[in-house]
Amino acid sequence: SSEESSSESANSSDEAEGTVDEKLRSNQEDPYIGFAIDTLREERWYRDKEAFEGAVEEQGGQVKTLAANGNQDVQIQQAQLLINEGVDVLVVVPTDASGAGEVVKLAHDAGVKVISYDRLITDADVDYYLSFDNEKVGELQAEEILNNVDEGEFAYVGGAESDNNSILFRQGAMNVLEPHIESGAIDLVYDNYTTGWDPEVARDELSSFINSNDVDLDAVVAANDGTAGGAVEALGDQAGDVEVSGQDAELEGVRRVVEGTQTMTVYKSMNLIANRAAELAMDVAAGEDISTETTIDNGQGDIPTTLLEPIAVTEDNIEETIIEEGHLTEEEIYGD
Ligand code: BGC
Repeated sequence: SSEESSSESANSSDEAEGTVDEKLRSNQEDPYIGFAIDTLREERWYRDKEAFEGAVEEQGGQVKTLAANGNQDVQIQQAQLLINEGVDVLVVVPTDASGAGEVVKLAHDAGVKVISYDRLITDADVDYYLSFDNEKVGELQAEEILNNVDEGEFAYVGGAESDNNSILFRQGAMNVLEPHIESGAIDLVYDNYTTGWDPEVARDELSSFINSNDVDLDAVVAANDGTAGGAVEALGDQAGDVEVSGQDAELEGVRRVVEGTQTMTVYKSMNLIANRAAELAMDVAAGEDISTETTIDNGQGDIPTTLLEPIAVTEDNIEETIIEEGHLTEEEIYGD
């Protein structure tokens, strides 16, 4: 040891410290983060997965993602697998808001904290919630429709009722539409959630409504780009004459905005939420106490919450939003 100290004093003390630090780190196990997501069906969740995994790794953690194909029982099994593998933190996009409470129980039994990602797990002792302002999403959708048409026959095509966000999106849209419905300017002739957020369900249900009723729709407030795509198909020849909202800035959605069959989409930067979630997960794994700006009551208690800002996108601001941020390229959107 006298030899060591003499060689240390011969080198810069910085270098000696660096060596010690490195040894400590390689003796520790990297934080291990599990990402349990509902589905990879919508394009957005691939981006969440890629961005989240990249961010965790960049911050020195290890990560594994499992997707449940829209099945809450599968998600519970996958969560158990991740817990058995020794994850330090579980980040969850629940399939079913209250059904996912079981995931929280399993995790807490094993001393693992749970972060609810994008969608809130309700009636459970979730540790953190990170999302966008989802009521605002619904408001942006209805506001942009109203910028184009503020009277006539309207339809609301919602998301899966089992997803807490669907309730918030609808609530936001109704905040904006209600005065116009009450004044009689707007007739809300159709108001329906969509099982599993399935675009084909959205299409089939709206088209059977259109075919069996004497309606001439002026607008469809659709909760995301998937259901918007279904609505546009249901509209058939009418597409382009009817205002349709969406969400997620999916390639197909943005292309419809350019071609004029969809009025708008909502951009929620997946890089932003994924990076924030990775930071949060790493901090939680390190045992830090995190304070958030706000809390949300999920039925069980006040959950420490961070809500990010969604952005309305029309053909007028595609360039300075989703192209500038590298979400989609000019060529993808306008090329053929
Ligand atoms: C998300 C949307 C997504 C939808 C369907 C919602 O919870 O917030 O971005 O389109 O789920 O997956």
